[in-house]
Amino acid sequence: MTVAVLALQGAFIEHEQVLNHLGVEHIELRQASDLKKTFDALILPGGESTVQSLLLHEQNMFEPLKKRIEDGMPVLATCAGLILLASEIEGQETSHFATLPVKVRRNAYGRQLGSFHTESEVKGIGKVPMTFIRAPYVSETSPDVEVLAVVDNKIVGVRYNSQFAYAFHPELDDNTQIHELFLRSISAKS
Ligand code: GLN
Repeated sequence: MTVAVLALQGAFIEHEQVLNHLGVEHIELRQASDLKKTFDALILPGGESTVQSLLLHEQNMFEPLKKRIEDGMPVLATCAGLILLASEIEGQETSHFATLPVKVRRNAYGRQLGSFHTESEVKGIGKVPMTFIRAPYVSETSPDVEVLAVVDNKIVGVRYNSQFAYAFHPELDDNTQIHELFLRSISAKS
């Protein structure tokens, strides 16, 4: 299995380090020609969703990736990645890939400083460390979206078919269980 990591902006190297640690083959997606390479799953890293979306369009990667996600390619999205997938963004007229039927609120989930660290349950794993950096949260979900994690009464982890999305940054902590859960779900499918 090969996992593609969107490497336009944000914390993509940290995801690659986790994949290295787990011995999972991966490639970086930086330009349209990278889409010709063979890959089975996608990681959308944290960073700045507006910039990532702009670069995806500039590099002519947006439509082909959207199509592949719609066709069922497994995706692990963290923070800005969650915003890229969400079908609705509060206070904005437009969304990005819109493949995940949830509404998100940007830069909204913060205790005091907007960035914090905690430990909380993720369905199917147990307690994991969670680092939030100017994180979004999920304010509404469609009924077929499974809620995986809730912190302070806010939804911070969801699954919809093959799309896993988290408001926090599992790649920044020394715990690989979020990635492992994702990888297990892919191998269970194939
Ligand atoms: N606030 C960022 C956004 O709106 C997301 C923050 C993050 O990825 N750490 O895209």
